[in-house]
Amino acid sequence: MQELSLSLKDTLMTFDEEKPVDNLFLLAEAQLQQAFNIVALDASLKTILSQPKNELIIHFPVKLTSGKIQLFKGYRVQHNNILGPFKGGFRFHQDVYLDECKAMSTWMTWKCALQNLPFGGGKGGVKFNPAEFNTEDLERITRRFTHALGSNIGPDWDVPAPDMGTNAQIMDWMMDTYSNMVAVQDKQAVKGVVTGKSVVCGGTPGREEATGRGLVHCLSSWAQEKNFNLAGATLAVQGFGNVGSHTAMILSRMGVSLVAVGDHTGYFVHPEGFNPYKLAEYNRIHRSLEGYPGGRAISREEFFATKCDIFVPAAMELQIRSQEAQILDCKVVVEAANGPTDLEAESILEKKNIDILPDILANSGGVVVSYFEWLQNKRSESWDISDVRARLERRMIQSYQQVSEKARFLGKNLRLAAYAIALERLQEVYSRRGIWP
Ligand code: NAD
Repeated sequence: MQELSLSLKDTLMTFDEEKPVDNLFLLAEAQLQQAFNIVALDASLKTILSQPKNELIIHFPVKLTSGKIQLFKGYRVQHNNILGPFKGGFRFHQDVYLDECKAMSTWMTWKCALQNLPFGGGKGGVKFNPAEFNTEDLERITRRFTHALGSNIGPDWDVPAPDMGTNAQIMDWMMDTYSNMVAVQDKQAVKGVVTGKSVVCGGTPGREEATGRGLVHCLSSWAQEKNFNLAGATLAVQGFGNVGSHTAMILSRMGVSLVAVGDHTGYFVHPEGFNPYKLAEYNRIHRSLEGYPGGRAISREEFFATKCDIFVPAAMELQIRSQEAQILDCKVVVEAANGPTDLEAESILEKKNIDILPDILANSGGVVVSYFEWLQNKRSESWDISDVRARLERRMIQSYQQVSEKARFLGKNLRLAAYAIALERLQEVYSRRGIWP
């Protein structure tokens, strides 16, 4: 219990030394506080949810193909599991740090509760730049970390999924490593230890596109409510990996034109619209948009100031701060990334009448389809893609409508409404189950 009563100042003392200012956990805490200010919730719920249950840091050596032995730092944070196994992404990125995982695992708890999934929140990653390593080294790093995690993950305990810098291949290696660590009779039963696997290895059709597709359902519901015609609308996307590219490709089929795009190597504008399929293919081959022969290169500032209808941050957290919010010229920000907007930016956008479709709602299609994959693994089933898409659409539209209705009822924005729904669900379960012993 002592751990739960730590104040923010106390926890700051234990923060990873590298990110003292832009600490993402501060944003997660402040958002939680805002939600508690507007909804009548038990104070003990806040105490329970204010810190993750478990925080694991593992240093593990890997023998690389060069023969060199390198030490890596990996994280797995398990925020809450009152609703079901911990669930959340697993990232390879040079900037991964403990409080980022803490914040993201917290958001996963809200996201799963909002979507009424039998999962809690988890998040993790390994701190390194995957672009600097060859495929064989990536496999060695993945397998060594999975082995080091051991029984800290499992299909009924903690179920990782792809995130930045990881993909179906990484998930296949994680599943294979884990299944070789259990008794031979149990190998088939543990396929659901990770989701986002390739379809041949027990993944579900439709998982790769799921976050982008879910985001589009959410945006379409918003557009319908606002009487806004998506056909002919313009779009800017920051980050053109899995989520950004699928979002742009699906929206292009609805007549939305991608006029600005960027990634970690730079930004481009094209008033007549990019072909998102060609961009995605270029990105797949070159692993970035650098050198793309189309559009005009612009600065990051020009990118954020580009006039468009829909702005999708699909890269990193904390990309929209007051400076970016002041220059954004769009009607709606759809948060594909987790925690892309800080509180100051949010209030600037509100004053500019720019709506925000919040991360825990807008990007929840990924975990929804991960849930479908987990169910299929448990039942040894394989669903048809049309079935997956129809179920995803139903859930996303229903969740959007619930959040929108709650926002109207509370007279607050969609983020606070989404938090209110998630927290009320968690409160109901805690009030019935209690804490034992
Ligand atoms: P990805 O690795 O496939 O793509 C990330 C993209 O962001 C790349 O284009 C990269 O170049 C770009 N990027 C990285 N750093 C950047 C920077 N500093 N400035 C500009 N661009 C930068 O990752 P993804 O799976 O598409 O995830 C994107 C975001 O969506 C992440 O924040 C992730 O947490 C979130 N998300 C992903 C999923 C999922 O299912 N993959 C689900 C929910 C949320």
